[in-house]
Amino acid sequence: MHKDFFKNNKRLIGHFTGKPKGPAVIIFSGIHGNEDAGVKASKKIIKRIEKDNIPVKGNLFFVYGNSKALKLKKRYIDTDLNRIWSTEHIQKLKKMVKAEMISEEREQIEIYLLIKDIIEYCSGKFYFIDLHTTSSKTFPFITISDSLNNRKFSSAFPLPTVLGIEEYLPGPLLTFMNEFGYIALGFEAGQHDDIESIKNCESFIWRSLIHTGSVKKKALNDYQNISDQLLKSRCTNKYRFFQIVFRYEIRPEENFKMLAGFENFEEIKKGQLLAENNGVEVRAVKSGRIFMPLYQNQGDDGFFIIRRVSKFWINASIVARKLHAHNFLRILPGVKKDPENKYILIVDPKTAKFMAKQIFHLFGYRQQVLKDNKLHFIKRDRKILPFP
Ligand SMILES: [Zn+2]
Repeated sequence: MHKDFFKNNKRLIGHFTGKPKGPAVIIFSGIHGNEDAGVKASKKIIKRIEKDNIPVKGNLFFVYGNSKALKLKKRYIDTDLNRIWSTEHIQKLKKMVKAEMISEEREQIEIYLLIKDIIEYCSGKFYFIDLHTTSSKTFPFITISDSLNNRKFSSAFPLPTVLGIEEYLPGPLLTFMNEFGYIALGFEAGQHDDIESIKNCESFIWRSLIHTGSVKKKALNDYQNISDQLLKSRCTNKYRFFQIVFRYEIRPEENFKMLAGFENFEEIKKGQLLAENNGVEVRAVKSGRIFMPLYQNQGDDGFFIIRRVSKFWINASIVARKLHAHNFLRILPGVKKDPENKYILIVDPKTAKFMAKQIFHLFGYRQQVLKDNKLHFIKRDRKILPFP
């Protein structure tokens, strides 16, 4: 493939290619059209790389998420572009013509084809990054599927990391990339319109570029300032893990209203009044911290509740996974391997109840779906698989 292959791709905000031996860093922004901080930060970084002639190793791509929604400053046009990623859906789109597709499907197929070209074209280690902002006030944080390689990458940032969001949300782009063994990390930079969110994205991108070896630290004379940006806000200067324990889903046509003033990560008590839905009180079903409370019209996650994951658990799970102790899960009654996919365990719900989800999490399995009355747990640690 020719070097200029990506030159006229409208999906690209920018592309840099340098010494062939190097990582491939792919940065998406605006997959939610009302979240353009990442786009603005990407443009600033592109300008800086060009102006200062900063050498880039390997390949660096900046990609538009939902381009039509970004133009209209809407979260999405027909459906959430970050909830429709699955191999089945992609295969379906491949058989359709664009006129049959809804707006987000047209965006999706373009992004998919670009990713496919990138994977074919680049040879280095791949890093997929997706930049977001939230409707509530928040300090910056990371979301990942809980694989050891994702954890390792996220540990390069002084930020809280939230595990297992994919158990609650169907079809995010990054979970899809994870399925094929790629490192994929989501960054939530702050509130949608907060100017700090753009700065946080910039800082996060530069840190990523340094950490992946895409850009050398000494090429940036102000690196200290740039990287310190992420330390500015309260609570961010600690690397620690949280996991989601509850999701409040808003159904179509429901009139959900979050109580004013909740900040992301704020502690809440069981029974505390959090919101109103169709005029009925919504109270916390458990104690923990409120996560991503919804303060906008579009979206169907009212809020989540998260809890801190202990250091002990994190370390125990590293040991368990490195020893391949998950093999032991397969010999338990009510648990069997999926004959078609070695990364899936099919589990009798009674067994799952008895064993608690935590055990599966410990060994790197996340609950995905209920199929034929069985729970399917999907292993997050995996080798690179062929991209469909
Ligand atoms: Zn988002």
